Amino acid sequence: MPPRHSSSSNASGKTATAPPPRRVRVLLPLPLDRAYDYLDELEPPLKEGDFVRVPFAGRERTGCVWSCDPTAEGTGGEAVDAKKLKQVIARRDAPPLPADIARFIDWAAAYTCAPLGSMLRMAMSVPKALDPAAGMTGYVRAKTTPEDLRMTAARKRILETASESTPLGAAELARRAETGAGVVRGLAKAGALLEVACAPPTPFATPDTERAGPTLSADQERAAETLCRKVDGDGFSVTLVDGVTGSGKTEVYFEAVAAAVKRGRQVLVLVPEIALAGQWLERFTERFGVAPAVWHSELAQGKRRATWRAAADHGAAVVVGARSALFLPFADLGLIIVDEEHEAAYKQEEGVIYHARDMAVVRGREAACPVVLVSATPSLETTVNVEEGRYERVHLPDRHGGAIMPEVTAIDMRSQGPETGQWLSPSLREALAAVFARGEQAMLFLNRRGYAPLTLCRTCGHRFSCPNCTAWLVTHRAPQGLICHHCGYRLPPPESCPQCGGEDTLATCGPGVERLAEEAGGLFPDQRLAVIASDMAGGAQAAAEVLSRVRDHEIDLLIGTQIIAKGHHFPGLTLVGVVDADLGLAGGDLRAAERTFQLLHQVAGRAGRESRPGRVFLQTYMPEHPVMEALVSGQRDAFLEAEATQRQAFALPPFGRLAAVIVSGPDAATVEATARRLRRAAPQIKEVEILGPAPAPLTVLHGRTRWRLLLKAPRRSNVPGLMKSWLGAIKIPTHVRVRIDIDPYSFL
Ligand code: ADP
Ligand code: ZN
Repeated sequence: MPPRHSSSSNASGKTATAPPPRRVRVLLPLPLDRAYDYLDELEPPLKEGDFVRVPFAGRERTGCVWSCDPTAEGTGGEAVDAKKLKQVIARRDAPPLPADIARFIDWAAAYTCAPLGSMLRMAMSVPKALDPAAGMTGYVRAKTTPEDLRMTAARKRILETASESTPLGAAELARRAETGAGVVRGLAKAGALLEVACAPPTPFATPDTERAGPTLSADQERAAETLCRKVDGDGFSVTLVDGVTGSGKTEVYFEAVAAAVKRGRQVLVLVPEIALAGQWLERFTERFGVAPAVWHSELAQGKRRATWRAAADHGAAVVVGARSALFLPFADLGLIIVDEEHEAAYKQEEGVIYHARDMAVVRGREAACPVVLVSATPSLETTVNVEEGRYERVHLPDRHGGAIMPEVTAIDMRSQGPETGQWLSPSLREALAAVFARGEQAMLFLNRRGYAPLTLCRTCGHRFSCPNCTAWLVTHRAPQGLICHHCGYRLPPPESCPQCGGEDTLATCGPGVERLAEEAGGLFPDQRLAVIASDMAGGAQAAAEVLSRVRDHEIDLLIGTQIIAKGHHFPGLTLVGVVDADLGLAGGDLRAAERTFQLLHQVAGRAGRESRPGRVFLQTYMPEHPVMEALVSGQRDAFLEAEATQRQAFALPPFGRLAAVIVSGPDAATVEATARRLRRAAPQIKEVEILGPAPAPLTVLHGRTRWRLLLKAPRRSNVPGLMKSWLGAIKIPTHVRVRIDIDPYSFL
């Protein structure tokens, strides 16, 4: 076998054979498709996963050792002559990236067609976490006390308190000895105490798994046992916890969390909207005596650093987070929970496009740990996986404590609607009045921010639209103005029509939550009313405050967008009014019906969660639509089945695969031409269909024109492979961007 590398000493064979220089392949957290080779002359030699500093493009950068055997097959990239390679500068003083997350990154990059380096970047999102933790000086007692030591009572107490093995910080040692830290330092100087460097204590306390949870019902017990068995069994599995809202799904999976923590493993809980998870955090704290570590993108830098590090060195047993928490480098992941697995918020649409629920399953597979998906309205994807035996299912059919599911009534707006300019039908008004008369609470749901979605001129018909996007400007009252919900473009409230100059000719059309609040406030002036929307002043924190005031019954009527739909438990809430149940059904989204069902079911589930029964009213212009019928009759499974039959007939997901290509750029002609060229370069494969190109429904966004193509393929095809060879075949002009969205959820 020829030597991999030849040097003069090797060739002459006279001197002892010098070992060939070690070569490592280093992946950088940059939008690059491949890793690069470097020479490793460090001692001890580098290992896979080590974080290293390397020279790259004239700069020093931190990357991760992706392979220590880069000349092996299948590692990608050709072998570069060792003489041309640069050396690794240094190893970073941080725990190496675990092998399971490295495999996950490889898989996720290949699947989503994202650059490998961009995936790594998500796992290295806190560069500061790779710096050595700011150490602490601890003190231990020296074996012998210097003979000439001047002894005082305080010094004596310190020496008695200090141990020979467990270092304590100066402040702590002084506190225990009831003296000052100066005395500790004096003893160190005199040689009676030794200074030792020690790691700072982890800021995350371990959950107390000995605390008793609630007594579970028989169904809950069975479900919890199944989950705990998975946790104890070691190895990958996926289980769906399917149970109506209020059936105790959270209590049940808390048991699995406890089981994993008891075994000394780490747990990741994904929630769709961490900023609003206040109630969840309270419950966790009540159950386990400590708060979990929290992870999301708006976390302060220091907290991000601490949490990343605590995941890596097992300093945190439980991390609850938004989808990006999947990329935390857990040292010993033993369980992943995906709460509200059907939520669209799990699909990341910016940057690297991925679906966190699907990726959680892969993360679990690579970590060889159980994954638990939780929902009252499981996605069709998950439902089919259960039916086909890939996922197991545990079922909680009843609400806890005998609370009954709310009665759902459709209000036919064609015959029972309100007068023009009003949005609450007479029956809904009556129901609200009755609830308030009984001292109970109500909620009105309208998934539309602002005051009115459209403003137009009654004289010339001019409509206010965004100059940067294909979108109407939404009128807002607080603060006042016309706003584009896509790019944030803003106009002050207009006094006249910019087209015909007409004054007092402008009319606002349709309701947003602000307008609804105006109407409700007029009808029920004595009730305490609050509005919640994702764009409210004060952000998520303000929203969370309102939610807790609702729970404490300081609010009688809550009006809000979809952020009020999720998971909140309001004991006194007995009426939910869905103001425009049809809103989500418009547009060409293949999941429109499924999503509307999930969302409205979730909203409806807020009503009557305790002893008093709840009622739900759906205002709709199409009460005969299958979604409305399913909500009214409570026949979720029949609806899902019908939905599945339809999707199957058209080979749509989950029975077929889709991938979207979005071409965008500032110049409309170049974008269109590129989209058409892409079409001509498309793979010509039987059973693979290309739809488009066509202008995207949101044709202009942020000033960029957008065109879409859609690839439709049979379920078992290698879609990422198809996409790679397709897009690799053509050169994309500068200023034009082509994005691939595997398994698209948005078709805008
Ligand atoms: P889900 O997650 O299915 O919506 P939760 O776990 O939030 O249901 O439970 C709904 C409410 O019922 C919560 O307030 C919860 O604490 C309570 N609950 C559920 N199961 C039990 C139980 N076995 N004992 C006492 N309270 C329970
Ligand atoms: Zn805009």
